[in-house]
Amino acid sequence: MSKQRILVCPICGETQSESSLCTACGVSLVKDELLIAEGGIGPWWVRDETLPHNPGMTYDHLAHLAKCGKIERHTLLRGPTTRQLWMVARRVAGIAHLLKRCHDCGAHVSPKDRSCPECNVPFLAYRDRNNFGLDESDPSRGEIDGMSSFLNDTMILNTSSKPLSIPDRKSVEPTEPFEDGVGSPQFRAVQRRLESTLRAKRNLTVTVVLLILISMGLAIMAFK
Ligand SMILES: [Zn+2]
Ligand SMILES: [Zn+2]
Repeated sequence: MSKQRILVCPICGETQSESSLCTACGVSLVKDELLIAEGGIGPWWVRDETLPHNPGMTYDHLAHLAKCGKIERHTLLRGPTTRQLWMVARRVAGIAHLLKRCHDCGAHVSPKDRSCPECNVPFLAYRDRNNFGLDESDPSRGEIDGMSSFLNDTMILNTSSKPLSIPDRKSVEPTEPFEDGVGSPQFRAVQRRLESTLRAKRNLTVTVVLLILISMGLAIMAFK
């Protein structure tokens, strides 16, 4: 009995048994065709209760839906020109003129017009896939929040934690250093041993001399 593999559709998130077509959104789950679907992801949404979990689409895809009648003037859209807030299509800049209305003044226009003949507002196409229209400025560079393993050395040194530095020499020295210079513990130990040997030798000499003197004295007394 073979195990049934379960997969999650990367486009709509529906969980299903393994197949080549998503049972919910119909996208092809074959790798190369999935890349095409991924390329269609963008910052525009059509409110659709049958596919509530799908990613947004590109401007060109939305414009295509408008041109072929799959969205209408009262369809709810959101995108870069609505600051991602839901709006009826006839008020959405970039799309309304494709539905034969000026988004600004509501005048009847042709989808081929480049601007409104009534109010002169331009009809533009918004093809930047990564601009959600939330902020007119460039994205901020971001700031370091904690440490990432992808930081370079300069960024690591710039963080608020203690900068990396060469440890104090004392702390890296072994507890019993091995040095062979003058003044090292090894040298002093040898020196001490030598001194004690010399002292013992001196004491022995004094003793021998005293013994000789005593025995000479005794001999002189004996001969008298
Ligand atoms: Zn799907
Ligand atoms: Zn107008």
